[in-house]
Amino acid sequence: MQLETQCLHEGYSPKNGEPRVLPIAQSTTFRYESTEAVARLFDLADPGFFYTRLGNPTVDAVEKKIAALEGGVGALCTSSGQAATLTAILTVAKAGDHVLSTQSIYGGTFNLFAVTLKRFGIEVSFVDQRAPNSELAQAFRPNTKLFFGETLTNPSMHVLDIERLASLAHEHGVPFVVDNTFATPYLCRPFEFGADIVVHSTTKYLDGHAVQMGGCVVDSGNFDWKAHGYSEFCEPDPSYHGLVYTEAFGKAAFIVKARAQIMRDLGCCQTPQGAFYINLGLETLPLRMQKHSENGATVAAFLAAHPAISQVTYPSLPGNPDRALATKYLPKGCTGVISLVLAGGREAGARFIDALKLISLEVHVADIRSCILHPASSTHRQLSDAQLAESGIDPGLVRLSVGLEHVDDIIADLAQALEKA
Ligand SMILES: *Cc1c(COP(=O)(O)O)cnc(C)c1O
Repeated sequence: MQLETQCLHEGYSPKNGEPRVLPIAQSTTFRYESTEAVARLFDLADPGFFYTRLGNPTVDAVEKKIAALEGGVGALCTSSGQAATLTAILTVAKAGDHVLSTQSIYGGTFNLFAVTLKRFGIEVSFVDQRAPNSELAQAFRPNTKLFFGETLTNPSMHVLDIERLASLAHEHGVPFVVDNTFATPYLCRPFEFGADIVVHSTTKYLDGHAVQMGGCVVDSGNFDWKAHGYSEFCEPDPSYHGLVYTEAFGKAAFIVKARAQIMRDLGCCQTPQGAFYINLGLETLPLRMQKHSENGATVAAFLAAHPAISQVTYPSLPGNPDRALATKYLPKGCTGVISLVLAGGREAGARFIDALKLISLEVHVADIRSCILHPASSTHRQLSDAQLAESGIDPGLVRLSVGLEHVDDIIADLAQALEKA
């Protein structure tokens, strides 16, 4: 099936007389006829649902759909994008390990990596994703367990050279984990370029309507954990009476371990109702991403030509340093997200945002309604000016998320606010 068809039909196909629309299994638990049957579920010997923290039919349908959209062997939905990133990291790394990450990443992820993972005993160091391989290679250490980056960075809108960085990770025997939140599998499928694990904040375009927090971890099934000496994957797990993930689950070893260990113990699960909303969003993802990208490109061109703006970052704009990467990785479009800097700096940025009428100021991005945010005073508030610069964020940078309104109305609102700025 093509992606448009998968968005509508993967994960749930009703049998004779069953509901046409994915039903919400609003139940924490499931009934069984014998203790033997339940024991086999607990041993992971039989597939099935026994407790909603570990699996639920509605959540399962969405996991199957997202896995299919990304071309993976399995997926795990989580309570938020932050939980998805944490789950992916903790499935692979433990205290004493090192994680390598690109530095222009989402502010919440940066904080998780730089502060909270350190408290878990996991050290994260950051590299410039545009640096040459010779420089990046020096950042890998003997205890490095994974390399992390964002397809399209939030909010700086840099494009990740997935193929180059995945090869580099593999040369160092570690998986490449990609946050594909902004691109979504409609615009880019990182597994096709060598990424091993994908994480999503489904809160953004996958839901797309600003109604439901969520995240998802997707496993390509391609990383050979045993060959690269990841002992927790190929040696008996004492918390599952000696289960060996690579032997019992083969290509799905990572995603089963993520669920069986990390979701079991940390409990950051998606709810059935939440999964239902995410599924509704996924059904129209292709149409929305086309229109967001079309409106985004038109608005980016308008802003680039406006004298009150000193810098517009949108990957497909002429002159953008990532334009060749955008052509390769995002041939269908570059989303509705645009980052811009006003010529009048931080204060002009504030006057501009306050003068907008249609486009609303909110802590969100990737919604059907146009919205705007000043990262340095909100999502990236915890970062010092030096850290902001490292993340590629000018203190005056404004992140605009172009919605599905008529593009003339969006441009008219921007034009009148720029006059006032
Ligand atoms: C929003 C976002 C996250 C965090 O997701 P939440 O659902 O807000 O927890 C992670 N990565 C990227 C790229 C994001 O935009």
